[in-house]
Amino acid sequence: MSEDVNPFESLQEQIDDAAGYLDVSEDVLTRLKHPERVLETNLTIEMDDGSLETFPAYRSQFNGDRGPYKGGIRYHPGVDRDEVKALSGWMVYKCATVDIPYGGGKGGIVVDPRELSDGELERLTRAFAEELRPIIGEDRDIPAPDVNTGQREMNWIKDTYETLENTTAPGVITGKAIESGGSEGRVEATGRSTMLTAREAFDYLGRDIGDATVAVQGYGNAGSVAARLLEQELGASVVAVSDSSGAVHDPDGLDTAAVKEFKRETGSVTGYEDATEELSNEELLTMDVDLLVPAALENAIDGDLARDVEADVIVEAANGPLTPEADDVLTERDVHVFPDILANAGGVTVSYFEWVQNRQRFYWPESRVNDELERHVVDAFEGLVDAYESNDLPNFRTAAYVVAIRRVVDAYEEAGTWP
Ligand code: NAD
Repeated sequence: MSEDVNPFESLQEQIDDAAGYLDVSEDVLTRLKHPERVLETNLTIEMDDGSLETFPAYRSQFNGDRGPYKGGIRYHPGVDRDEVKALSGWMVYKCATVDIPYGGGKGGIVVDPRELSDGELERLTRAFAEELRPIIGEDRDIPAPDVNTGQREMNWIKDTYETLENTTAPGVITGKAIESGGSEGRVEATGRSTMLTAREAFDYLGRDIGDATVAVQGYGNAGSVAARLLEQELGASVVAVSDSSGAVHDPDGLDTAAVKEFKRETGSVTGYEDATEELSNEELLTMDVDLLVPAALENAIDGDLARDVEADVIVEAANGPLTPEADDVLTERDVHVFPDILANAGGVTVSYFEWVQNRQRFYWPESRVNDELERHVVDAFEGLVDAYESNDLPNFRTAAYVVAIRRVVDAYEEAGTWP
């Protein structure tokens, strides 16, 4: 893992790489590489012992040319301004890749939520919602969950916003509980798009995913669902999974649901009794498997580690898990990387369906959600392959950015110039 690669610079490099294959002028390119605005704030809340504590927080609204800003809110001690800017930019190009009518945004609070009580977390979340209120809205900026946030935090943000605005506006945020206006299928959506991308990728490469061995780094929402669907819906053998405590391995395939249950009970995957051995996180990333799914955080694989990667195919469930140098090394080594802005786009795609349902006050069954998601992922995959082949591009990430940047630039140019 490389701590010193700035994810915002990685994003800018990815845009530059793709722009080399597009007819985009330098001045428009500058716009594509910088956020429109970033809110930086400090949230002071009362802790349970009566003391006050202050937490820095950010919301970046990167680009709104294709629709309202859209993107998650992360609670993590490593959150900083550049990380939030990068994540908001990836959202722009992710929404454009799967062709949903949103721009990109992202937010975060510098906090380790494990150190806060539920009451402290609720006060912190409501304080953030109050700061966000003037700049978010159903047609303006629509947050969602990300690392260490989920339905509970989304419900608090919705409730704070609706109370202060004296209205009902469930579409102001997505990833809510069903009872608060959430969508069927939303919790699984990110892992589902990762599974669908892997299925399409193996099909495209002429390989059988049912025979594939899989290693998954990060057994949270995205990674554990992807692992379970790869095993249960496609018959792949998930031989290793990890979380921040380390990795577990079974060459005959792990029972992904049982590992998930074990993690729910104990807080980590390590110690899972039916594994044959425990591995370090680095050992998992360099295992000789058919498919590697990084599903933890940014920069998990840098240039050095990429030289030791033995997987044939990588499908990125996490955002930005490869550094640009790792990308170059893997392209050179003919490892096929299917990028985050396609593979984890299920989360934002079903967020879009949630928002559509909220606006219409008409709710879909899970089967319709999953069918519509599959259609979006398969269409996007075909568009990416078409760009890859017809432009003779070096890898699928560049192909995704070529498709996405073209869509954002078209929207910007069609709108004309003002003021
Ligand atoms: P999560 O908090 O549910 O899970 C993250 C997991 O990664 C945890 O199990 C954690 O222990 C593990 N982890 C952290 N550091 C690790 C390390 N060094 N090695 C191995 N494991 C490690 O978060 P999530 O929602 O699953 O998000 C994971 C990634 O997917 C992030 O990059 C996020 O931006 C991306 N993503 C998530 C969604 C979503 O809907 N949840 C949507 C799109 C993208």
